[in-house]
Amino acid sequence: MDGKLLIGGELVVGEGPAEDVLNPATGEVLAKVPEASLAQIQAAVAAAERAFPAWSRTPPKDRATVLLKLADAIEAQGTELARLESLNCGKPYALALADEIPAVADVFRFFAGAVRTMQGAVAGEYAAGYTSMIRRDALGVVASIAPWNYPLMMAAWKLGPALAAGNTVVLKPSEQTPLTTLKLATIMAGLFPPGVVNVVTGRGESVGAPLIRQPQVRMVSLTGDVATGQKVLEAAAQGVKRTHLELGGKAPVIVFDDVDLESVVAGIRTFGFYNAGQDCTAACRIYAGPKVYDRLVADLSSAVSSLKVGEQDAPGVEMGPLITEKQRQRVAGFVERAASLKHVEVTAGGKVHGSKGFFFQPTVVAGARQEDEIVRREVFGPVVSVTRFSDEEQAIAWANDSDYGLASSVWTKDLSKAMRVAAQLQYGCTWVNSHFMLVSEMPHGGVKRSGYGKDLSMYALEDYTAVRHVMVKY
Ligand code: NAD
Repeated sequence: MDGKLLIGGELVVGEGPAEDVLNPATGEVLAKVPEASLAQIQAAVAAAERAFPAWSRTPPKDRATVLLKLADAIEAQGTELARLESLNCGKPYALALADEIPAVADVFRFFAGAVRTMQGAVAGEYAAGYTSMIRRDALGVVASIAPWNYPLMMAAWKLGPALAAGNTVVLKPSEQTPLTTLKLATIMAGLFPPGVVNVVTGRGESVGAPLIRQPQVRMVSLTGDVATGQKVLEAAAQGVKRTHLELGGKAPVIVFDDVDLESVVAGIRTFGFYNAGQDCTAACRIYAGPKVYDRLVADLSSAVSSLKVGEQDAPGVEMGPLITEKQRQRVAGFVERAASLKHVEVTAGGKVHGSKGFFFQPTVVAGARQEDEIVRREVFGPVVSVTRFSDEEQAIAWANDSDYGLASSVWTKDLSKAMRVAAQLQYGCTWVNSHFMLVSEMPHGGVKRSGYGKDLSMYALEDYTAVRHVMVKY
């Protein structure tokens, strides 16, 4: 694939050094993608700024029409997009096609509809002879910076609300996984007026950092690591820019003694290991009740060992490799250090899988304690820890004893207990008797070090607008 940037409506070759883009299942080079030069970053931002007045004044129904065409095009080219996404990220092709492509199209359709219902307010008369109204207006140029775990989905979460609201965007995918975003760029070039949406590629330091420093950029949206979020915040502070940060997670999964164990095991098998656990909401930190703990560890370990690990197209494959060798070594390090603890037992997996690519076995670490690194830090790999709690109060306290606050789940047949616990969890989302389910209508986003700002839902649309007061004297 040729991998061109999209700047001011033109597909152009990056002028910076080229980055090898790998297939993580084999380690082979899929493409060499050149970075955007500083001049190209500046040109993209300038094009976005030029396009802003007309796009922000385009009636919502007409902006919506473009987003609906984009959704249709994504579905029409779904097999090609899913193929590229699975090759570049290592995930099973069948899952990318069945789960991600329809969800990506739905995100654009949701925001196309949502912006037509977004309202300001007639606020009333608060001083004699004055009428106030509240407008919701686009902000200007948004710099959107995406991670490598769901490149296409993260692009949709960022582009959907920003463009629907009338902003113009410069999007930077991860340097490790630019291929589907570049394909999206070729689709968007034919749909949007020049400059409304721009795509630049490259590394965080050489492209992301200068992009967010451009004075015309009014908002920065990042999904990534906490440390990256901190750097983005510092840079944004210089220009007093709005930020929208979706950072890491370490989702607690509280399993009470009264559960339907089979469905819990099936749920963790799926949602702890989806995308090889490289998911900020992965069901990775299990707290099990005193009575259910032993059976859960046994059943989960055997269920997890049956996960079919393999290349993107292998028949029935459920889990692929990690994104890089570095990430695999990081995950292996977490498991080795946990395994060296006397109270810990690795009851499934724990080792490198296969001889090529960056695979790691789906792994269960039982007996981990609250203070252990494996319970506290984001592993971002196919590893779940299981810890026994003694009572409800302790389960809640341990679940909340985390730097992160993105997603959590509670499993019990007792609805009162579920409601009581959910109300006390310090997380952006709590699922009851489920995990991981996202819909375009409902917000996704964290508290604490998981960041702030919401993706999906009307809240995201609002995050990408400014509330403005217009006061009329009569
Ligand atoms: P990362 O922080 O390394 O990179 C994310 C993006 O930021 C990349 O495009 C990168 O090039 C860019 N970047 C890096 N340094 C930058 C800088 N100084 N200035 C501007 N841009 C910079 O994250 P990653 O490794 O790609 O993704 C994994 C992380 O993302 C995990 O911590 C995960 O939890 C998080 N994540 C969060 C969510 C969520 O919804 N909260 C979703 C997916 C991933």
